[in-house]
Amino acid sequence: MDLTDIDTILERAYQNGRPFFLCLETMESKLKIAIQKSGRLFEDSMRILKEAGIEFNNGVNKLKSEAVNFPLEVFFFRDDDIPQYVEDGIAEVGIVGENVVIEKNRDVKMIDRLGFAKCRLSIAIPKDYPYKSTQDFQGKRIATSYPRSLSIFLKKNDICAEIHEISGSVEIAPGIGLADAICDLVGSGSTLLMNGLKETEVILQSEAVLIGNKALDQTKLSILEKLRFRIDAVKKSKNNKYILLNAPNKKLDEICRIIPGMKSPTILPLAQAGWSSVHSVVNENDFWGILEKLKEYGAQGILVIPIEKMIL
Ligand code: ATP
Ligand code: ZN
Repeated sequence: MDLTDIDTILERAYQNGRPFFLCLETMESKLKIAIQKSGRLFEDSMRILKEAGIEFNNGVNKLKSEAVNFPLEVFFFRDDDIPQYVEDGIAEVGIVGENVVIEKNRDVKMIDRLGFAKCRLSIAIPKDYPYKSTQDFQGKRIATSYPRSLSIFLKKNDICAEIHEISGSVEIAPGIGLADAICDLVGSGSTLLMNGLKETEVILQSEAVLIGNKALDQTKLSILEKLRFRIDAVKKSKNNKYILLNAPNKKLDEICRIIPGMKSPTILPLAQAGWSSVHSVVNENDFWGILEKLKEYGAQGILVIPIEKMIL
């Protein structure tokens, strides 16, 4: 076959559309990722991919979108369906709340926690109820969209209660006499408050997770590893800050011990004798404690700067 033949084949294929697509698809293997179509997870799921340097055609249609600079295809589904689609291989990986993964109990692999959509699944009751212990739920009606998770919790605590499965607006159930309590997702707790409810038991903590099909081939696994590497760099950069400060030389050892950074801090002499500039990386969670100690050791001119990407 010479170049003219290929041109003719492509031209013919292009005219009737579909075969041309097939031809392109077989040229490059892509990892299919399922994310929530709309709702609380959509924005952050797209953001984490974008921050990982993955760009999409403007044409994000309702069903799927292809990355232009990474072998990834994004499919948009209802979050409840994602574990099943990943188990069935419709998508090879997916981003979904851990609460949904636990509730749906599909045979998928938990790959990474993603650090957003943090919430908890809790039982809540009308705020005036004099709650003492989980035994107060004996014989009660509890409304929820999470029957499996609730039933595991009740069983573990030897509680016999009636589970009322409803699909939305669970928080209004006690107010309209449908249930005595609810078991629902809680973020800040403001929805409970607005509905005259108080949280009594936390059943599970959740955040967005990356899940995967258990039987990925080598090509897909290697794309997945590249994706994880990028997501990890984004996550680490969010949890860490770059810190610069001026330190008296006599306290350098103590200061370096509390901000060891990735390998060790950078120390540069200042023009003023007896002082150095120290550069390092600190974890967001330890930040305020470290700051107090730095001030104790006489550090001055402390600058804290966000990090865009971080690779160890
Ligand atoms: P869908 O239409 O896709 O079924 P949904 O209404 O079931 O969407 P959302 O309300 O968009 O779901 O929530 C999606 C996920 O976001 C939840 O499964 C949970 O992991 C997380 N989430 C829910 N509520 C909160 C909250 N208050 N704060 C943080 N994360 C939350
Ligand atoms: Zn849902």
